[in-house]
Amino acid sequence: MSAPTQPADLVILGGGSGGYAAALRGAELGLSVVLIEKDKVGGTCLHRGCIPTKALLHAAEVADSAREGEQFGVKTSLAGIDMAGVNDYKGGVTAKLYKGLQGLIKSRKITYVEGEGKLVSPTAVAVGDTTYEGKHVLLATGSYARSLPGIEINGTSVITSDQALELERVPSSVIILGGGVIGCEFASVWKSFGADVTIIEGLPHLVPLEDESSSKLLERAYRRRKIDFSLGSRVSKVTTTEDGVSVELENGKSFEAEIVLVAVGRGPVSQGLGYEEAGLTMERGFVMVDEYMQTNVPTISAVGDLVPTLQLAHVGFGEGILVAERLAGLPVVPIDYAGVPRVTYSEPEVASVGLTEAQAKEKHGEVEVLTYDLGGNGKSQILKTQGAVKLVRAKDGPVVGVHMVGSRVGELVAEAQLIYNWEALPDEVASLIHPHPTQSEALGEAHMALAGKPLHSHS
Ligand SMILES: Cc1cc2nc3c(=O)[nH]c(=O)nc-3n(C[C@H](O)[C@H](O)[C@H](O)COP(=O)(O)OP(=O)(O)OC[C@H]3O[C@@H](n4cnc5c(N)ncnc54)[C@H](O)[C@@H]3O)c2cc1C
Repeated sequence: MSAPTQPADLVILGGGSGGYAAALRGAELGLSVVLIEKDKVGGTCLHRGCIPTKALLHAAEVADSAREGEQFGVKTSLAGIDMAGVNDYKGGVTAKLYKGLQGLIKSRKITYVEGEGKLVSPTAVAVGDTTYEGKHVLLATGSYARSLPGIEINGTSVITSDQALELERVPSSVIILGGGVIGCEFASVWKSFGADVTIIEGLPHLVPLEDESSSKLLERAYRRRKIDFSLGSRVSKVTTTEDGVSVELENGKSFEAEIVLVAVGRGPVSQGLGYEEAGLTMERGFVMVDEYMQTNVPTISAVGDLVPTLQLAHVGFGEGILVAERLAGLPVVPIDYAGVPRVTYSEPEVASVGLTEAQAKEKHGEVEVLTYDLGGNGKSQILKTQGAVKLVRAKDGPVVGVHMVGSRVGELVAEAQLIYNWEALPDEVASLIHPHPTQSEALGEAHMALAGKPLHSHS
């Protein structure tokens, strides 16, 4: 192995959301940074996750608009989906962002190393014959799509989101195993593109981590959209047949489709990378960290999907920034994960921040809940979307949970995030004038109603 030169302040293994955010912020703060990436900087989010799926969802929205123009008095029809065209558009978005990110990395004078790295000591990562020494090492190797025991991903008829993003045709029918965020987003895309879609979820509801009221609203919307789902029963067997795939459930039901998407969660990429050998505390493959993203080895931190926090790109960004700032000697505060906004970008969208009603009851005892139906919101009526804004507050205290369902409500969660994180009282939000006619008024009106002065609602 080549002799190490001067150790860098920070050596980062993995250039996804968590790793590259730490690199950018670290370099900005004057740290010398080495960023090691085996594939493409930007990681899952940019190349196989957030961005390509949201491009597909936008194409799906365009398809719906074309199909449904008549209800707005516009004569349109959907002639079909040209997947090559959709993929070109999706690829174009990713390529532009990828180029921009590469430029940023370069401009911040980060030493970018292309290659597969392995932790070889508490202060060093080796890539081939070269060892990169650092005063500190940040592990950010991310996650991969998991499957279930006995279900083999063959990449053609039984696929994960990685292959789903590369499909060159719209399948005639799809079974989606897993009704979480990724499963529900693909269900939405494929239904809009004209496929028959069935979601199988072992838990009693779709998007099971959300407030139950949001799950029920999404289920109602999916029923209207004729997206089928089976809840509360797990898969027992998946068999490939001549025409596609057959799925059997533990409750005896069975389903057939052209393809099966396995969307049952993501596991940490941590095997064979020298983590155990370095003495890191690990659980189920995740690297364990404290609230400052510090592992049990003082020179090693870890962030992103590799650690057991919310698997979201913006969580990776936040954790990466926290590590960079801590190493640069800035004061840092632990992340309040309940205060991180969550969005499922399906049609309709599901967005939330803070505690569900059940969690709030557990934490605060008595709570007050208010649900404002989007039926009373002008802009939602213009868009012809249905849904609601639900607020949960601690009794006589601040708002501790905001839960929304409806087209475009993902954009509203940024305001909801301020309300939760600044511990706003309903009265304080009620006194802020929201622009008319926007969907943000639904948030304002919900707070007015909760503060006891409803305007366009009965309560
Ligand atoms: C289909 C899908 C849709 C999603 N949509 C959203 C969304 O809308 N919003 C959202 O917030 N999140 C979304 N996510 C989640 C988001 O993509 C992840 O939370 C985020 O990418 C995690 O960032 P990370 O840096 O921890 O890991 P990753 O992005 O996975 O990056 C890890 C990087 O490490 C590299 N690496 C691994 N091992 C090595 C090694 N030995 N040597 C060198 N490099 C290595 C990998 O190549 C990879 O680039 C989605 C995920 C998926 C799969």
